[in-house]
Amino acid sequence: MTDAAIRIDGLRKTYRGGKGQPEKQALKGIDLSIPQRSVFGLLGPNGAGKSTLINILAGLVVKSAGSVSIWGYDQDRNPRQSRSAIGVMPQELNLDPFFTPRGALEVQAGLYGVPKAERRSDEILELVGLSDKAESYARTLSGGMRRRLLLAKALVHHPKILVLDEPTAGVDIELRQMLWTNVRKLNEQGMTIILTTHYLEEAQEMCDEIAIINHGEKIAQDSTANLLGRMDSRTMVIVPDSPVIDLPATEGVEAALRDDGNLVLQYRSAQTNAEQVLEAVRAANIRIRDVRTEEADLEDVFLALTSSRSEDAPAVDPDQPRRGMHRVKL
Ligand code: ADP
Ligand code: MG
Repeated sequence: MTDAAIRIDGLRKTYRGGKGQPEKQALKGIDLSIPQRSVFGLLGPNGAGKSTLINILAGLVVKSAGSVSIWGYDQDRNPRQSRSAIGVMPQELNLDPFFTPRGALEVQAGLYGVPKAERRSDEILELVGLSDKAESYARTLSGGMRRRLLLAKALVHHPKILVLDEPTAGVDIELRQMLWTNVRKLNEQGMTIILTTHYLEEAQEMCDEIAIINHGEKIAQDSTANLLGRMDSRTMVIVPDSPVIDLPATEGVEAALRDDGNLVLQYRSAQTNAEQVLEAVRAANIRIRDVRTEEADLEDVFLALTSSRSEDAPAVDPDQPRRGMHRVKL
């Protein structure tokens, strides 16, 4: 028995193209080892191959090559044991509209061979906040409630590993909090959690370890702390009150003037704080009309990992407007 919850070696998936469609290599030989009891983040942009990987783990997609071992059980040699070690909350809302939450959990428990005496439908419905909807048809449930039910279904057979595929994409704050509270609780009880997300902040808060995949390849795997250490670049954009004559000059801050007259300042949050940047701006006699900061996001990580492999901050084109802008108060 290894101490990995999941071990993946040389995993490949090629989707056959439909009529006139080329085939698609969604996974191009992924090796991945996920530690037991971790909260593990699988990150990557849309189309990276995250759902494909997870659906292979769940037994919903058939791999083209490679091996997958779940809790020490090879997926091909021990399909039943490997399947019962994992519970998956899929990205798609694939629920039978004519089942009630309680009914859906009972059917799921039956599929996994959970004996009647060991079923805990009420407890699970309570956990996900669906107790009062236990007898409502799934088709009458809101999108958020359907997601809760998908989580409940993933938990029915007491899996050692819980996998959540983009659980918080497009959900409201209450549901997001319910999810994270439960993820923490289940992890404290010893469950290994694997989640995909393209929200870096979320991964940062929740995950001990992160793997990043892009175009079907793993481009990084590290502890969250180590990964974040690579991407603490910050950008501050200053709208000056009058045209800038002298650029601020201070160590650790790179200043540039854009065509629109705005001042772009780049720094690393580990070395310089926003106050020091603002001081440098004031020292250059620049009056600030408005200011925004931009934090490093997943895009920066990709830039850092794909374009420059050095320890330096990723190169950012100051002329490119970027996502994730936040207004800050002065
Ligand atoms: P992610 O979850 O990271 O957004 P996916 O695993 O859903 O990525 O998709 C990876 C790639 O495989 C994408 O290019 C997607 O279009 C393609 N793909 C996914 N599912 C299928 C399918 N059933 N048939 C053909 N191509 C697919
Ligand atoms: Mg996906």
